[in-house]
Amino acid sequence: MIDIGVNLTNKRFDKDREDIIHRAQMANLSALLITGTSVIESQKAFELCQQYQGHFPGFLYSTAGVHPHDADHVSADYLEQLKQLAQHDQVKAIGECGLDFNRNFSAPIQQQQVFSEQVALAAELTMPLFLHQRDAFEPWFATLRPYLDKVPAMVAHCFTGSKAELTQCIAADMYIGITGWLCDERRGQSLRDIVSSIPLNRLLIETDAPYLTPRTIRPKPKSSRNEPSYLPFIVKEIAIITGLDQEEIAWQTSGNAEKVFNFPSK
Ligand SMILES: [Zn+2]
Repeated sequence: MIDIGVNLTNKRFDKDREDIIHRAQMANLSALLITGTSVIESQKAFELCQQYQGHFPGFLYSTAGVHPHDADHVSADYLEQLKQLAQHDQVKAIGECGLDFNRNFSAPIQQQQVFSEQVALAAELTMPLFLHQRDAFEPWFATLRPYLDKVPAMVAHCFTGSKAELTQCIAADMYIGITGWLCDERRGQSLRDIVSSIPLNRLLIETDAPYLTPRTIRPKPKSSRNEPSYLPFIVKEIAIITGLDQEEIAWQTSGNAEKVFNFPSK
């Protein structure tokens, strides 16, 4: 299994980051993709990959990008900084980038500009896009449409959209990232209703740790903090809903992740 969305730079992991990575390995994960959400966080994500390369060889990779929440705070040369970061072997995608009109932590017009620039950067560098979207599907999709055949892959991370949106993403050959949102019987219901419509060769799995702890973990963890070793609970939930075999989901989603992010296969 490969967790394609881990916020491993988060300060909630400061005290025991190495234990977290170790537990992920013990839970049969073969790689983690650490999410970069700003230039500084992307830098830190890459530094973690380097720092643990000796201890956990080939286990950590990262993305480089600016999350829509951070769009108001970019520096004049942020694209150049992302480009520099993206030169490193362990940096595998541009993102997390996109649009989030749910809470508008950054001004929509600024979100749009920073998003468009990163999409163009991914095309320039021929790198996959790691994408965020909330309450902004139409402008988000319209931004991506001209680039569908100009980047190697697009990943709709933490997909929580509608059936119609899913259909459009699949038709555009996007990959769909599913988190523990699925394990929430109340707010996750609409996602549970459509997860069977995702072709297995388009499916990716992610914890989004330390957020979105699966509510299906038994025994219930003492801490509310999510971590990559809980990824199997997401696989299990997908299996329950779709009727597919857990092994098959694990195997196929790993293959998808290796292909999308150009990981060395193991
Ligand atoms: Zn996100």
